[in-house]
Amino acid sequence: MTLKQLLIERIGQDGPISIASYMQDCLLHPTLGYYTTRDPLGAGGDFITAPEISQMFGELIGLALAQAWIDQGRPTPFTLAELGPGRGTLMADLLRATRGIKGFHKAARITLIEASPALRKQQAQALSAHAPQWLDNVDQLPDAPLFLIANEFFDALPIRQFLRDGDGWRERRVGVSGDDLIFGLTDSAPNPALAHRLADTSDGDLVEICPAACTTIDIIARRIARCGGAGLILDYGDWRSLGDTLQALERHQPAEVLANPGQADLTAHVDFEPLAATARAAGCGHTRLTTQGVFLERLGITARAQALAGDLKDPELAALIAAHRRLTHPNEMGNLFKTLGLFPADGVPPPGLDR
Ligand code: SAH
Repeated sequence: MTLKQLLIERIGQDGPISIASYMQDCLLHPTLGYYTTRDPLGAGGDFITAPEISQMFGELIGLALAQAWIDQGRPTPFTLAELGPGRGTLMADLLRATRGIKGFHKAARITLIEASPALRKQQAQALSAHAPQWLDNVDQLPDAPLFLIANEFFDALPIRQFLRDGDGWRERRVGVSGDDLIFGLTDSAPNPALAHRLADTSDGDLVEICPAACTTIDIIARRIARCGGAGLILDYGDWRSLGDTLQALERHQPAEVLANPGQADLTAHVDFEPLAATARAAGCGHTRLTTQGVFLERLGITARAQALAGDLKDPELAALIAAHRRLTHPNEMGNLFKTLGLFPADGVPPPGLDR
């Protein structure tokens, strides 16, 4: 049975489902989900991410986290965590770059939060020299200083969508028509969680919320506020979302969101405003939202590219220059992707970011 058939049957019995429920099944259904059944990354997959573009990305993230660890007096032991580590490339580059930092590896408990069995296997291979530990969920993170990276993790968490209708909201849902999945809307109802959006939206506007993202940030922020640490959240998105950002990607091409459940990557832009608000409410400090391009430049990506260029000749040199441009240029990933840093409210922000 395909996931599409399964969803059509279930919706036929129980009625339409939320976008969040649809996303959850598409991405993480135990046997038919997109992430649970494959490695979607890289040139041969459906999309490519910053750590897969260049080793420079993971190296700079690693050095930034190590500097934050030094700034906080080298707490030992500490949790070195990654959310959704994909192929393990970022963590491998991070660990190589921080080898020379005295005490860092010895104190680090490498912890990977990963839902996909297929990707856990890849991570185990990439990190075989480091004995990482896997967790299903952030609430299993130990009560210890937490230095954490999440790249393109939050965009995979399930969102809900609401259409403004007078002073109420109609939730967008997935229903069935014949042999197809279709979008529909609930009746209009008030929604206290969206009260603050009545001021900046008008009839017909669509807003998105991501409850799972706030729950995740709340847990991380409490750890950092209580035990120390730092978090770097990188993703595409912005401050306060407006409009439909749900998208499907199949073999590097945009696809229909409802056409092939489980066969395409589904993501939504990350709205960083509620994440920052959640961190604040948990007693944790957060930085200003900073574009990826500016963040990587401040961390020294150009100097690192120059060092790597060394005696390189084309085509390797051209590939390095293209990778640097792709990660930082405003027309490529530089502006679309943003960084939010978390740190103890009375401490200093992680390198490259300001409060
Ligand atoms: N960070 C990697 C991979 C990004 S793809 C990179 O930059 O290349 C998203 C990753 O998050 C995958 O590893 C996916 O399996 C994982 N993931 C998605 N939803 C998850 C969830 N709810 N819990 C744990 N891992 C999840």
